[in-house]
Amino acid sequence: MGTRVKKNDKVMIMSGKDRGKSGKVLFVNKMRTRLIVEGLNIVKKAKRPDQQNQKGGIIDIEAPLSISNVMVVCPKCGKPVRLKSRMLENGKKVRSCGKCGEMLDKA
Ligand SMILES: [Zn+2]
Repeated sequence: MGTRVKKNDKVMIMSGKDRGKSGKVLFVNKMRTRLIVEGLNIVKKAKRPDQQNQKGGIIDIEAPLSISNVMVVCPKCGKPVRLKSRMLENGKKVRSCGKCGEMLDKA
């Protein structure tokens, strides 16, 4: 499939506590089932003291989201859209917006 979410995509969260918020994808796991979005799905985590933080304490971290809970935001439409896979003349496959056809990958 050529329509998957990739690192650095802008995505919107479609369910859960951060529904409707969008951010940049920082990480997609190898199985392509989970991802981390910058600044979203924040959870508090207890941290043990270490060299950087001698006291330890509670820190905020971005928890992974299920990839099925996000949609890519088209830079042109500005909305979450379904992606289509498009074959270019040079044989390269790129992802494009299902609505306006904007390419999301470099040709
Ligand atoms: Zn679009």
